[in-house]
Amino acid sequence: MTDTPPPIITVDDLARAIDNSTPYPIELNPTVCRYMAERLLEMLTVAKRTDHDMWQREEPPPPAPGPISPDFTSPIAGRIEVRDPCPHCGDHQLIPRHRMAEHISWLHPDERT
Ligand SMILES: [Zn+2]
Repeated sequence: MTDTPPPIITVDDLARAIDNSTPYPIELNPTVCRYMAERLLEMLTVAKRTDHDMWQREEPPPPAPGPISPDFTSPIAGRIEVRDPCPHCGDHQLIPRHRMAEHISWLHPDERT
């Protein structure tokens, strides 16, 4: 055992934790997650439990910053998500790509990707 305190969490990590805290299949817009993380870190000191499974999983790299900022006024803003057919569901249900691992662990616990 060491007495080293866990690292203080970053906005990005807290936003990721918020995104991973929603009950399946509820989705939060990434902008909402980040906003919540920023507000929470104004109110709270949060430390990461580095032994938690979530921090062991690969996180896709954030999209490269570009000159185009999101158009939040678009009627389709926040409504587009990539879905893949589940190979284990009989009807090949379309699952949001970033939720596939969670879907499989919930509905097909004996399957491993
Ligand atoms: Zn399935």
